[in-house]
Amino acid sequence: MSSPKIWRQRIERYRLLGQKCKDCGKVLFPKRLVCSECGGREFDKEPMPEVGKIITYTTVYFGPKFLEQDIPYILAIIELKNGVRITTQVVDTEPKEVKAGKEVKFVFRKLKDEGKTGVIIYGYKAQLC
Ligand SMILES: [Zn+2]
Repeated sequence: MSSPKIWRQRIERYRLLGQKCKDCGKVLFPKRLVCSECGGREFDKEPMPEVGKIITYTTVYFGPKFLEQDIPYILAIIELKNGVRITTQVVDTEPKEVKAGKEVKFVFRKLKDEGKTGVIIYGYKAQLC
Protein backbone atom coordinates (compact mmCIF):
# COMPACT_ATOMS: atom_id res chain seq x y z
CA MET A 1 0.00 0.00 0.00
CA SER A 2 1.38 3.41 -0.95
CA SER A 3 2.01 6.15 1.58
CA PRO A 4 -0.50 8.58 -0.06
CA LYS A 5 -3.23 5.91 0.18
CA ILE A 6 -2.40 5.28 3.82
CA TRP A 7 -2.67 9.03 4.44
CA ARG A 8 -6.04 9.26 2.68
CA GLN A 9 -7.44 6.32 4.68
CA ARG A 10 -6.01 7.36 8.04
CA ILE A 11 -9.29 8.46 9.64
CA GLU A 12 -11.19 5.28 8.72
CA ARG A 13 -8.20 3.12 9.53
CA TYR A 14 -7.55 4.64 12.94
CA ARG A 15 -11.13 5.20 14.10
CA LEU A 16 -13.03 2.33 12.43
CA LEU A 17 -15.13 4.93 10.66
CA GLY A 18 -17.47 3.76 7.90
CA GLN A 19 -20.40 5.36 6.11
CA LYS A 20 -24.16 5.04 5.85
CA CYS A 21 -25.91 5.54 2.50
CA LYS A 22 -28.32 8.50 2.63
CA ASP A 23 -30.60 6.82 0.07
CA CYS A 24 -30.97 3.23 1.32
CA GLY A 25 -29.30 3.18 4.76
CA LYS A 26 -26.74 0.50 3.85
CA VAL A 27 -23.69 0.66 6.12
CA LEU A 28 -20.36 0.34 4.31
CA PHE A 29 -16.86 -0.23 5.61
CA PRO A 30 -14.33 0.64 4.36
CA LYS A 31 -15.61 3.79 2.66
CA ARG A 32 -16.62 3.65 -1.00
CA LEU A 33 -17.55 6.23 -3.60
CA VAL A 34 -20.72 4.40 -4.64
CA CYS A 35 -23.21 2.42 -2.52
CA SER A 36 -23.01 -1.31 -3.33
CA GLU A 37 -26.75 -1.67 -2.65
CA CYS A 38 -28.40 1.21 -4.58
CA GLY A 39 -25.64 3.09 -6.41
CA GLY A 40 -26.14 6.16 -4.19
CA ARG A 41 -23.26 8.59 -3.82
CA GLU A 42 -24.23 10.51 -0.67
CA PHE A 43 -23.18 9.19 2.72
CA ASP A 44 -23.13 10.08 6.41
CA LYS A 45 -20.20 9.07 8.59
CA GLU A 46 -20.94 5.93 10.58
CA PRO A 47 -18.71 4.69 13.40
CA MET A 48 -18.28 0.93 13.44
CA PRO A 49 -19.00 -1.08 16.61
CA GLU A 50 -15.75 -2.01 18.37
CA VAL A 51 -16.84 -5.59 19.03
CA GLY A 52 -17.97 -8.43 16.82
CA LYS A 53 -17.86 -12.18 16.53
CA ILE A 54 -15.73 -14.58 14.54
CA ILE A 55 -17.62 -16.03 11.58
CA THR A 56 -14.76 -18.15 10.27
CA TYR A 57 -10.97 -18.18 10.48
CA THR A 58 -7.83 -19.86 9.26
CA THR A 59 -4.33 -20.31 10.58
CA VAL A 60 -1.72 -18.83 8.23
CA TYR A 61 1.66 -20.58 8.05
CA PHE A 62 3.01 -18.88 4.91
CA GLY A 63 2.21 -15.20 4.78
CA PRO A 64 3.60 -12.00 3.32
CA LYS A 65 7.12 -11.02 4.32
CA PHE A 66 6.00 -8.19 6.61
CA LEU A 67 4.02 -10.68 8.76
CA GLU A 68 6.82 -13.26 8.99
CA GLN A 69 7.39 -12.55 12.68
CA ASP A 70 3.71 -13.35 13.45
CA ILE A 71 3.59 -16.79 11.76
CA PRO A 72 1.58 -18.81 12.52
CA TYR A 73 -1.18 -16.24 12.84
CA ILE A 74 -4.96 -16.27 12.72
CA LEU A 75 -6.83 -14.51 9.94
CA ALA A 76 -10.56 -14.21 10.61
CA ILE A 77 -13.75 -12.84 9.13
CA ILE A 78 -15.41 -10.84 11.91
CA GLU A 79 -19.05 -9.81 11.80
CA LEU A 80 -19.76 -6.57 13.62
CA LYS A 81 -23.01 -5.92 15.50
CA ASN A 82 -24.27 -3.89 12.50
CA GLY A 83 -23.70 -6.77 10.06
CA VAL A 84 -20.54 -5.39 8.45
CA ARG A 85 -17.85 -8.04 7.94
CA ILE A 86 -14.15 -7.30 8.29
CA THR A 87 -11.21 -9.58 7.55
CA THR A 88 -8.38 -9.07 10.00
CA GLN A 89 -5.77 -10.76 12.13
CA VAL A 90 -6.67 -12.10 15.60
CA VAL A 91 -3.78 -11.30 17.93
CA ASP A 92 -2.57 -12.11 21.47
CA THR A 93 -3.89 -15.67 21.43
CA GLU A 94 -2.97 -19.22 20.53
CA PRO A 95 -4.64 -20.73 17.44
CA LYS A 96 -6.34 -23.39 19.63
CA GLU A 97 -8.19 -20.66 21.58
CA VAL A 98 -9.90 -19.27 18.47
CA LYS A 99 -13.37 -20.60 17.58
CA ALA A 100 -16.18 -19.48 15.28
CA GLY A 101 -18.76 -17.56 17.31
CA LYS A 102 -16.28 -16.15 19.85
CA GLU A 103 -16.52 -12.44 20.62
CA VAL A 104 -13.66 -10.13 19.71
CA LYS A 105 -12.86 -6.47 20.21
CA PHE A 106 -10.70 -4.30 17.99
CA VAL A 107 -7.29 -3.16 19.15
CA PHE A 108 -4.92 -0.67 17.58
CA ARG A 109 -1.67 -2.24 16.40
CA LYS A 110 1.27 -1.85 14.05
CA LEU A 111 0.31 -3.44 10.73
CA LYS A 112 3.44 -2.97 8.69
CA ASP A 113 6.83 -1.32 8.69
CA GLU A 114 7.74 -0.09 5.20
CA GLY A 115 11.46 -0.23 5.97
CA LYS A 116 13.15 1.93 3.33
CA THR A 117 10.61 4.76 3.51
CA GLY A 118 10.50 4.67 7.30
CA VAL A 119 6.69 4.60 7.19
CA ILE A 120 5.09 2.54 9.94
CA ILE A 121 1.46 1.68 9.26
CA TYR A 122 -0.97 1.24 12.13
CA GLY A 123 -4.51 -0.04 12.10
CA TYR A 124 -6.95 -2.39 13.79
CA LYS A 125 -6.62 -6.07 14.63
CA ALA A 126 -8.95 -8.24 16.67
CA GLN A 127 -8.43 -9.67 20.15
CA LEU A 128 -10.61 -12.26 21.94
CA CYS A 129 -12.88 -10.64 24.57
ZN1 LIG B 1 -27.53 2.87 -0.88
